[in-house]
Amino acid sequence: MAVTREDVLKALDRIVDPASGRSVVASGMITGLALKGRNVIFALEVAPERGREAEPLRRACEDAVAALPGIASVSAVLTAHQEAANARAASSQSPPGIAGVEAVIAVASGKGGVGKSTVAANLAIALARMGLRVGLLDADIYGPSVPRLLGIRHKPQQGAGGKLEPIEKFGLKTMSIGFLVDAETPMIWRGPMVQSALTQMMGDVLWAPLDALVVDMPPGTGDAQLTMAQRVPLRGAVIVSTPQDLALIDARKAIAMFEKTKVPILGLVENMSVFVCPHCGERSHIFGEGGARRMAEALSLPFLGEIPLLGSIREMSDAGSPVAAQESAGPETLAYLHLADAIARQLRTALRPAPRIVLE
Ligand code: ADP
Repeated sequence: MAVTREDVLKALDRIVDPASGRSVVASGMITGLALKGRNVIFALEVAPERGREAEPLRRACEDAVAALPGIASVSAVLTAHQEAANARAASSQSPPGIAGVEAVIAVASGKGGVGKSTVAANLAIALARMGLRVGLLDADIYGPSVPRLLGIRHKPQQGAGGKLEPIEKFGLKTMSIGFLVDAETPMIWRGPMVQSALTQMMGDVLWAPLDALVVDMPPGTGDAQLTMAQRVPLRGAVIVSTPQDLALIDARKAIAMFEKTKVPILGLVENMSVFVCPHCGERSHIFGEGGARRMAEALSLPFLGEIPLLGSIREMSDAGSPVAAQESAGPETLAYLHLADAIARQLRTALRPAPRIVLE
């Protein structure tokens, strides 16, 4: 099988820069990665004062990639760039925020189809119902679902300073690439395009003022996700998983990705947890039981709750009328409200300054 960018980045991710103690990938030192057939070329950026000292690190990177099966040649170039080093230092400590947005929260999953977008949209609506000023950014540019989930079919207007006005619905401000390009048209995205689309959707949209911007992340733990986790000023990440083992293995990868980029995990959500038969009311655990809860416990992460597997959740989502927006609070609406409550609690704790201890 041909080597992919992801394979190369994975191999490089095992190389730790002794100066920072972090992987060369996580600290953003790898730039200009190009893969041409079986030949790989990339640059390793270091601060100028390190100069040739970084040569062993460059060799280690080259060797790690050369060890991949099917690689014909590897060329790693050492580049010393003060500005890049400064920018990286600033971004690795805390990437610049979005003006007027208090907290950016990622909703992520290790793989597609586990209900990440459904959780993101319903969580955002539930947070807005609690009185917060909330935005929903559909960063899943490969498969934008917000237009369908929220039943939005019109294009956003241009507002002040050439920026886009987010579309308002269900008490939320929202933006999706699906509003701009036809969601049915398959698009081929390349790495740099993905990044610029995401950067624009954050910076060139009139989001402010917001208490929370919920970001529906692209599924998976590849290059785009890693860069996003690094570049976006995330307050924390919510990981969505179904209860079965296979999905949990992927969830673990997503957790590792955020931990690598020092983004706090706000907790795990178990989606499609229990199936309640609409006819007899019998409860069955189609995808197994309590897997995400056990994993949260094992990893000492908060468990944020279970969302039942219900036909109504899918039907309402497909109809562009998410259950969290329903007035009559059935079990599905309550499940999302509970989730929002758990998140809002964490945001409040994070916002509150540490208590001062006064000795008398
Ligand atoms: P992802 O963003 O992880 O790819 P989606 O949110 O698009 O997943 O959900 C995949 C499908 O599963 C959709 O058809 C959605 O309506 C359905 N779905 C998500 N959560 C539930 C649930 N709790 N009960 C029933 N159907 C669900």
